[in-house]
Amino acid sequence: MSRVALVTGGSRGIGAAISKALQDAGYTVAATYAGNDEAAQAFTGETGIKTYKWSVADYDACAAGIRQIEEELGPIAVLVNNAGITRDAMFHKMTPQQWKEVIDTNLTGVFNMTHPVWSGMRDRKFGRIINISSINGQKGQAGQANYSAAKAGDLGFTKALAQEGARAGITVNAICPGYIATEMVKAIDEKVLAERIIPQIPVGRLGEPEEIARTVVFLASDQAGFITGSTITANGGQYFA
Ligand code: NDP
Repeated sequence: MSRVALVTGGSRGIGAAISKALQDAGYTVAATYAGNDEAAQAFTGETGIKTYKWSVADYDACAAGIRQIEEELGPIAVLVNNAGITRDAMFHKMTPQQWKEVIDTNLTGVFNMTHPVWSGMRDRKFGRIINISSINGQKGQAGQANYSAAKAGDLGFTKALAQEGARAGITVNAICPGYIATEMVKAIDEKVLAERIIPQIPVGRLGEPEEIARTVVFLASDQAGFITGSTITANGGQYFA
């Protein structure tokens, strides 16, 4: 029987590429999303991957959603914490609401999703937790104190949990993408992209969502069992942590 993989924010952008790559690798995939029903329906129509709607910021919704998925598809072997948002503002203009929304989704959301799957993975002596952090959690980014703090927090969480999971056959790793060609990045003004962003990337191009997805597939595999607590940077050489 194929292993079950759950990808948060798995119906769009990088998450959609991760869901598809895991499906291609033979996993039974469940993808969650927050509110964009149209994108989720189109994604399920295209791939056959089931989508589930709840906010990762809500612990009880995560626990209930995970129970439902495990009843429908089987025990979750791979959890990819990919869902994320930005609420950018320079710090002197950042509101408590902007701070809270990003911490609740990008950091607490990772706790909320991982906690309900953890005991089952421990009991079964196998699990893969893969957290999608960001280059901006490593280097910090002006205008993103909330996002950088949350994404850096994800890295600390990864390292601590890797130590707890090691003896139980659970690996916990993080991937820090640089600029990836998702709708969000493609929406940036072409001139800004060409003159200000791409010149900062030594390989001279944006990353593709599939390049992150292939890294996830590797970390999820049995062959990656000795890799835990790692932060893999995938940023075209823009920053070395
Ligand atoms: P997108 O904005 O394209 O997609 C985000 C996904 O997360 C959507 O499926 C969205 O659901 C879901 N989501 C957002 N909030 C919640 C929530 N509260 N609960 C559940 N799902 C939620 O993002 P990207 O693909 O660009 O980014 C994916 C991850 O990669 C994020 O964690 C991001 O921080 C990280 N990253 C992205 C980079 C980039 O260049 N794009 C660079 C570095 C890191 P819905 O469709 O319903 O809105």
